Amino acid sequence: MNILVTNDDGIFADGIYALRQELLELGDVIVIAPETEQSAVGHAITLLTPLRTDDVFRHGEFFGYAVNGTPADCVKLGVHSILDRPPDLIVSGVNLGSNLGTSVIYSGTVSAATEGTILGIPSIAVSLATFENPDFSFAARFACRLARIVVERGLPHGTLLNVNVPAVPEDQIQGVEVTYHSASRYEDVFERRLDPRHKVYYWQAGLEQTLDLRDGSDAAAVRRNSVSITPIHFDMTNYDAMSLVRNWTINL
Ligand code: MN
Repeated sequence: MNILVTNDDGIFADGIYALRQELLELGDVIVIAPETEQSAVGHAITLLTPLRTDDVFRHGEFFGYAVNGTPADCVKLGVHSILDRPPDLIVSGVNLGSNLGTSVIYSGTVSAATEGTILGIPSIAVSLATFENPDFSFAARFACRLARIVVERGLPHGTLLNVNVPAVPEDQIQGVEVTYHSASRYEDVFERRLDPRHKVYYWQAGLEQTLDLRDGSDAAAVRRNSVSITPIHFDMTNYDAMSLVRNWTINL
């Protein structure tokens, strides 16, 4: 089995290292990941500048290819140019920080998996719900277990799995819940500062998340120390709203 591994924290992140080591149990792993952190770049792709790749070695052995682009670039370039044939599976992560609720729109981690799905390859995004003292070992092991099942069973057309793992020791994990995306979102806070030439600039400093803790939601599951698995798809059509808008009188 061939597995493509990518992320948005960059090829030198700890999370992608842990993930790759676990997935080696399942088959051949090729890492193609951004050379620098690309968190929150969403599904951006690079059109106006060339993409370059570099061989990356970690702990004295070949680790993968660094790309000077986005997570979605890495998947596209990997599938169409670097690999001889499409991988059987794409796993993106393990991300430093959760991807709950509306975060999936901004997340490079999730967007890499979405790109895989667009290309018809079963894909999983995995995130660890902490920014402090992360231990990626359980999340990576869980990703490997889930990857095995996804390859065996496949996923519905256009669907990927967004996985969020609580940052607690394995013996404190309460279970696995299949969830819906909550309305959780980050609080936007812009710090207003002055540069050395006394011009104003702003820096997004919003990290505090507004959690929607309704039962069955991804945020509620993680809050309960359960692993959250949300099946998501990229058809954003609101089918129920189609008839509503059709009933409007819209003049040309
Ligand atoms: Mn990230």
